[in-house]
Amino acid sequence: MQKDTAYNADVIIVGSGAAGLMAAVEAAAAGAKVLVLESEAQTGGSTRLSGAYVALCETPLQPGTRAEFLDDLLESHQHDCQKDLSRLYAEEAPHTWKQLDGLGIHFVRTFQFAHMSKPWAHELSGERMGGGAEIVTVLESAARARGVAIVASTRARRLILDNGRVIGVTAERGGRTFPYRSRSVLLASGGFTRNRDLIRNFGRPGAEQILPLTGEGSRGDGLVMGMAAGAGTAYMTAGVAPTAPTDPATGKGVMMLYAGAIAVNKAGKRFCRESDLYIDTCWAALAQPDAAFVQVYDNRMRENYAQTMMGKVLTGFDETSAGLLEGLATGIAKAGYDADATLATVESYNEAVRTGGDSEFNRTNLVGNSGELLPVAEPPFYAVHCCAGTTHFNGGLSVDTDMAVLDVFGEPIPGLYAAGETTGGFHGVGYMSGTFVGMALIFGRVAGRNAALTASTS
Ligand SMILES: Cc1cc2nc3c(=O)[nH]c(=O)nc-3n(C[C@H](O)[C@H](O)[C@H](O)COP(=O)(O)OP(=O)(O)OC[C@H]3O[C@@H](n4cnc5c(N)ncnc54)[C@H](O)[C@@H]3O)c2cc1C
Repeated sequence: MQKDTAYNADVIIVGSGAAGLMAAVEAAAAGAKVLVLESEAQTGGSTRLSGAYVALCETPLQPGTRAEFLDDLLESHQHDCQKDLSRLYAEEAPHTWKQLDGLGIHFVRTFQFAHMSKPWAHELSGERMGGGAEIVTVLESAARARGVAIVASTRARRLILDNGRVIGVTAERGGRTFPYRSRSVLLASGGFTRNRDLIRNFGRPGAEQILPLTGEGSRGDGLVMGMAAGAGTAYMTAGVAPTAPTDPATGKGVMMLYAGAIAVNKAGKRFCRESDLYIDTCWAALAQPDAAFVQVYDNRMRENYAQTMMGKVLTGFDETSAGLLEGLATGIAKAGYDADATLATVESYNEAVRTGGDSEFNRTNLVGNSGELLPVAEPPFYAVHCCAGTTHFNGGLSVDTDMAVLDVFGEPIPGLYAAGETTGGFHGVGYMSGTFVGMALIFGRVAGRNAALTASTS
């Protein structure tokens, strides 16, 4: 191992997504010398790829209270989660909005997803770039302006421990391994959606079929490094779930369903209420023949989708199109879809929309309880092949409300913090849209603050 003391810092942060960068801004503002290590050549991880809907409360765009928001959070997590983290999220949400606004991250509207009694999800304009890319870009320059060093292409591999206290990491750079010493370490290396071994060990049978849409660095490195130091984990199995209808040919997420599309399986039948949470749609899809389906939509839906943040970020999938529904059905028949049954399904759905009654799945809105249904009626018509992909997993390292990593006995591991998708517990068995980037930002702030505090007192 080479000796390289040039990058020693008070706080070392592993990962430069929303959690790592937010923590870096906060730790530097508290006076700490901060070093961020990023394994990939580009910063940003999954955050950069995301639409960055962020669920927040008590903001100028969404005045709903913390108490109301907390109720919704607990409901969407089916009351089976680490509730002190839910309370912390709701409590910190308005402060986080203020800080983001001050840094130059301006939300322009809100959106109501399934499991929300109010439109809690805040959306960026997307005019400059996709939502997540904007968050990462602004946070990165804010961190650098506060003196944070960010070193890319440097992959943390092990925690360095001294008498049970974490005092740094070893990391690989350019094929060599270096020790990086610090007074505290903050693991913000994202999730484990690309780690087949962890999925096999913790996921339900069949979970390996889930296609990851996440950043290349989502290998669970921080999780494994924490576990090697004795960390406990939370909600690992419940968290291994599909979350994103995905075009398997391009690996791109497709959410045309929320613009009005219907989901049709190879037998030409609908199999879910398309306005439900996309996680539920994906679980239902895994149970269909060949775990495959198509999203079928028309020109008007396509144009409406293009106006949304999802439509701006989730692009690049392969569409089949035709001027007539019959042509579309023939087109998808080549991939094994029953053309006659598909046509009959579209016709009966259109009739249900026109007469105001989808008795088959009781769909009443485009998404959750909002948006008026449209028939699939305006040519040209489109279809996209989909499988169940994922944008995140729930489970991760066990943490307390200081974002201190807890060992398997529930005791904090001295000098070790974590934030974002590396952690588990907040979501438990459920999920509300916009709470993953939200969790990374909110808990990243808390973790950065406490890692800096520990560094200043040790
Ligand atoms: C397509 C897509 C759309 C999404 N849309 C939304 C949305 O609208 N709202 C929402 O709430 N959530 C959304 N999500 C989920 C959300 O983006 C992520 O859960 C969240 O951004 C994770 O942030 P993070 O900082 O924890 O991890 P990441 O953003 O993944 O950052 C982790 C970083 O750590 C780096 N890293 C990994 N291992 C190491 C190592 N050993 N050493 C150094 N660096 C390492 C990674 O390369 C990465 O840059 C979406 C995800 C995707 C993929």
